[in-house]
Amino acid sequence: MTAVAGYILDLDGTVYLGDRLIPGADQAVAQLRERGRRVVFLSNKPLHSRRDYAEKLSALGIPTTEDEVIHSSLVIARHLAQESPGARVYAIGELPLQAELSQAGLVLTEDPSEVEYVVVAFDRTLTYAKLNTAFQALLKGARFYATNPDRTCPVDGGEIPDAAGGIAFLEATTGRRVEEVFGKPSLRMAAAAREVLGLPASACALVGDRLETDISMARAAGMTAVLTLTGVTPRSAVAAASPQPDHVIEGIAELPRLDELMNKGES
Ligand SMILES: [Mg+2]
Repeated sequence: MTAVAGYILDLDGTVYLGDRLIPGADQAVAQLRERGRRVVFLSNKPLHSRRDYAEKLSALGIPTTEDEVIHSSLVIARHLAQESPGARVYAIGELPLQAELSQAGLVLTEDPSEVEYVVVAFDRTLTYAKLNTAFQALLKGARFYATNPDRTCPVDGGEIPDAAGGIAFLEATTGRRVEEVFGKPSLRMAAAAREVLGLPASACALVGDRLETDISMARAAGMTAVLTLTGVTPRSAVAAASPQPDHVIEGIAELPRLDELMNKGES
């Protein structure tokens, strides 16, 4: 019996930065796997398919299958398929999100009078026409969901507007509030990761670089929360953080050592 048997690793800022691996990430994951620890990768971004992420990680030296990747598109698609199998959905989002929804048996439609669920996501092809279709569907009573709550997405040299922009537009114009947001820090995301790992929350550790999503979700879900300083959070921000991370590491290369400490006295 080990104290921490599974790791949920955030991607951007934790495992890689853009297209560059965080130093030692490949060896750290390999070492954890050698010890029999299970590992899944987690992203809020609905812009890519799980296979895209698996291929990127594998190319960077971390062999990964698509089953080991969880993102907000998957979590919302699975939830909708369970809540309302075959439901008619209008999604503001890019092709990989649409594909994930279709694969879950949901029916995509652009006819506002048919739409049962509006799903708002990060969409770099957003237009007034798309917003208006969602607006009309919401006025007719469609449910109002979103993939992720992020205001911006970090890119090389700065940041770009994320899903919060589309959500805010539709909230302001319809007077309605988004009913549920599925990416981190949603507990649905944590539950999806736990399911893939096949472990109780108490045996899972989440490693991430963002206090308000990664660390908040881990603590709320009852997982060990590990903050890594290679992303958006500087060490100076840690003291004021609420909730506090259980552990702070300089980078993912320190994770095998922390794993030893956390599992000390267990076999
Ligand atoms: Mg991150």
